[in-house]
Amino acid sequence: MIPATAFKELVSDLKSRGVNLIAVSKLKSVADIKALYDLGQRDFGENYVQELVEKQPQLPADIRWHFIGHLQRNKVKYIAGFVHCIHSVDSFPLLQEINRQAAKHDREIACLLQIHIAEEESKYGLGEKEAIELMEFFSAQKDELKNVVLSGLMGMATFTDDKAQVSSEFGQLKALFDLLRQSYFLHDAAFKERSMGMSDDYELAIAQGSTQVRIGSLLFGRR
Ligand SMILES: *Cc1c(COP(=O)(O)O)cnc(C)c1O
Repeated sequence: MIPATAFKELVSDLKSRGVNLIAVSKLKSVADIKALYDLGQRDFGENYVQELVEKQPQLPADIRWHFIGHLQRNKVKYIAGFVHCIHSVDSFPLLQEINRQAAKHDREIACLLQIHIAEEESKYGLGEKEAIELMEFFSAQKDELKNVVLSGLMGMATFTDDKAQVSSEFGQLKALFDLLRQSYFLHDAAFKERSMGMSDDYELAIAQGSTQVRIGSLLFGRR
């Protein structure tokens, strides 16, 4: 676990650059999460529905939970009552299901489109054309999708030591963000987040315009 002074320095450094910290707590205990909560942390990220559903009731209600893992449509219902933001929207039917479940709870859920920027085949996410296609569907049905707030994009860079490559991938996400904002969100300030950067590459992500970094091992130690 990161020492309290180092944690506070990290948070204030990020804050001074306009970047919000999401503490990624997957596979970490409720006690570990509570320890960071007690230092003032409120945004936590989880990857697995079942794990999140088990932890959430054991922790303070003012935590903002970010779902950052791959999300199956049939599992949205388990987290829709409390999740703050879903970073991994990668299809229009998933967005519709999030809207449907959020409406049942009479609440809004922030959603980020997950964009495939890495070279690796295995990572989830939309390509640029697919993201534009999704935006076309969204724009056409905006009035029926009142319980989701499209708030930006999320992406993961290739797992590599090649900093130029990682930077260029984050730059691609920022460029797509600018394009989508120009085309679809000129009058909608909610579309503002670039969720990019993890323990090993968050400085590169910030240099490319990240607004939210998702950091796990640097805070909680290795999983
Ligand atoms: C696990 C995970 C993180 C955090 O990774 P660290 O390297 O531990 O900082 C960030 N984003 C996603 C999508 C993850 O799955």
